[in-house]
Amino acid sequence: MDPFVYQAQAARVIFGAGTGAKLGEEAQRLGLTRVLVLCTPGRTELAERAAQWLGSRAVGVFDGATMHTPVAVTERALAAVKSLGADGVVAIGGGSTTGLGKAIALRTDLPQIAIPTTYAGSEMTPILGETRDGVKTTQRTAKVLPEVVIYDVELTRSLPVPLSALSAFNAIAHAVEALYAPDTNPIVSLMAQEGVRSIVKALGRIAATPHDLGVRADLLYGAWLCSCCLGATTMGLHHKLCHTLGGLFDLPHAETHTIVLPYVLEFNAPTVPDAVARLGRAMETDDPVRALIELERSLHLPMALRDVGMPNDGIARAVAQATANPYANPREVDAASLTELIERAWRGAGAHAH
Ligand code: NAD
Repeated sequence: MDPFVYQAQAARVIFGAGTGAKLGEEAQRLGLTRVLVLCTPGRTELAERAAQWLGSRAVGVFDGATMHTPVAVTERALAAVKSLGADGVVAIGGGSTTGLGKAIALRTDLPQIAIPTTYAGSEMTPILGETRDGVKTTQRTAKVLPEVVIYDVELTRSLPVPLSALSAFNAIAHAVEALYAPDTNPIVSLMAQEGVRSIVKALGRIAATPHDLGVRADLLYGAWLCSCCLGATTMGLHHKLCHTLGGLFDLPHAETHTIVLPYVLEFNAPTVPDAVARLGRAMETDDPVRALIELERSLHLPMALRDVGMPNDGIARAVAQATANPYANPREVDAASLTELIERAWRGAGAHAH
């Protein structure tokens, strides 16, 4: 076995169906008495439920969370924190809401309780991406890690099937890159394999039984593990490329991850046979690239970057930006190979014949 370093992230995790009802108890454990609830504009109903669970500890709802954590939104939320005298925040929703909670914690050190309702997986990471004047910057600091994460399977039942599947692919991408990360280790590897196994099993059943609590529990449990992988390792080409494409062409986050993942895996595969074998075992296949593409197709997900708004003449710009700074990836990336990779993802070329 190779030597390794494992840094555990300090967070308390509560998992199950109906666990949202424990929110008041958890706020009390943290000594919070004036809690501001955060959500995206469409999810005020969720926020109201959180406020009910908090009871007299709730002081208000801020429903302005939005994609990519714009600093202007954070400033409005901070004004609400201040005027209400909040001593903690609850972020209930997807990665956009969790991001806002982290941005507030970064500036105030207020404790956060995250209640994730998608599978994007921001809640277990010390990572915060923020946007100012259209430019996204990402930082890693333990200050933004939520103190408590409540996974309530019940709350994920309302996530529509397409959104669930896309979000689940976003989670799988964290595990895939963790398996070949420079700082991977045996614990991360176990979490990655178990996370992928649980998610893939559930994705095979979600279209037929979208409200089934067992299916939803498998997805959320897998997403938690994949989120831990993201928080514990350095991501490679896939995350770099999705970040670049999302920023340049304003592409949707989860769709971009879903489309790009098989192509990056195909590119890296020859360099990381052990990671591919582990992934294959988790997915019960000897060809994970092909299996990912088939799973996407069976769920009717977007399969090509051109279908989610990327212009063909943008490929050269994407290559230039994605190769401008060095980053961790097991296989060296040059402009020619990256151009081919993006072209294939742009067209939705499908898996190479292996
Ligand atoms: P999101 O939070 O914007 O949610 C997507 C949509 O789903 C929203 O319209 C939301 O209202 C809706 N929604 C959420 N839960 C629902 C439910 N249970 N039922 C019905 N609708 C529901 O998007 P996301 O994909 O969860 O997160 C993406 C964002 O998270 C991006 O900004 C990304 O950069 C960030 N992210 C950050 C990290 C990190 O570690 N910092 C990790 C992953 C993602």
